[in-house]
Amino acid sequence: MRFETKVVHAGLRTDETGAVAPPIHLSTTFERDSASEPIGADTYIRESNPTQTQLENALAPLEGGEAALAFASGMAAGVTVIQSLAPGSHVILPDDAYFSYRAAFEEFFSRWGYSTSVVDMSDTANVRAAVTPKTKLIWMETPSNPLLKIVDIAAVCDIARKASAITLLDNTWATPALQRPLELGTDIALHSTTKYFGGHSDVMGGALMFAKKNDFFETCKHARSLMGGVPSPFNSWLVMRGIRTLACRMRVHSDNGMAVASGLEGHAALSQIHYPGLKSDPGHAIAKKQMSGFGGMMSLRVKGGRDAALKVVSRVKLFTRATSLGGTESLIEHRASSEGPSSRTPQDLLRLSIGLEHRDDLLADLKQAISS
Ligand code: PLP
Repeated sequence: MRFETKVVHAGLRTDETGAVAPPIHLSTTFERDSASEPIGADTYIRESNPTQTQLENALAPLEGGEAALAFASGMAAGVTVIQSLAPGSHVILPDDAYFSYRAAFEEFFSRWGYSTSVVDMSDTANVRAAVTPKTKLIWMETPSNPLLKIVDIAAVCDIARKASAITLLDNTWATPALQRPLELGTDIALHSTTKYFGGHSDVMGGALMFAKKNDFFETCKHARSLMGGVPSPFNSWLVMRGIRTLACRMRVHSDNGMAVASGLEGHAALSQIHYPGLKSDPGHAIAKKQMSGFGGMMSLRVKGGRDAALKVVSRVKLFTRATSLGGTESLIEHRASSEGPSSRTPQDLLRLSIGLEHRDDLLADLKQAISS
């Protein structure tokens, strides 16, 4: 079955009412029979519930996984994986990982006895050199946030296999519409479903898709149940609803992204555009090998530094000045301002989430903001 068909049908089932759209089960608790055995599959909402299970049944096949877990946020999903590692584990992280994951490792999990090596994964040799006998997890993010660095997924998975380490790939920016890490050997795909899966800037969620329903899956499931980072039934339902249009939305995000990046390439006021679809991008060759499209995320570097970048943001008329990504509307942000004082993002960088508007309108807005 093709991806476009999968997203429309994944996890769908018709109940006794015949309703075509799924119901939302809000119940927090589920009845037992006279012998105190559960009547159905669920007993208490934090452990499992029908709407969340339906979402998980939809999520797993989209990445080609055997199982999936839904979470309250992308952070809850990632942190559950970290909490499921043995104490003393060594983790290899990309130097451009989403900043809150890096902060979680540096500011929080270091106290739990985890050690980390932060490396530039766009050169696979750096990953190989960072492996130690204690390495238990290699964390990838490609394209990365916000520099859109590209990691050779298959090559890193090969290194991890030899080291008997688990691989995780944050696939939030590409989504399985454009990139399938599990097919390239990754053990776990991570998503902030707050972004493209939800697709409308109105729901928070996270997901882990597992290549194998193995012991590590069970450990993560147990950790989620104990720690409680589960989505509400309504949020599960909203993510499921977003999934139905993921394939066609990603096609437009990618087409618009390519048009905007190409339309701005060489602009006299920009020093660089980070977008893997451009032939001039250092990650282009590998991205082309492992992605079927380049998505709607890009970063612009403005000549003149922080002040010039902030001026561009102040002048946009169609783009909305806000953080986050993956919604129907185009967003722009001065990334270092959004990340706060601990940010390592260059001060001249603007991060763009290209939405579903007409590409000519987007390009015209950016050109007037950059040039005026
Ligand atoms: N991963 C990436 C690549 C992100 O951009 C984000 C949020 O921006 C997250 C994970 C965290 O997701 P959430 O905000 O749903 O916790």
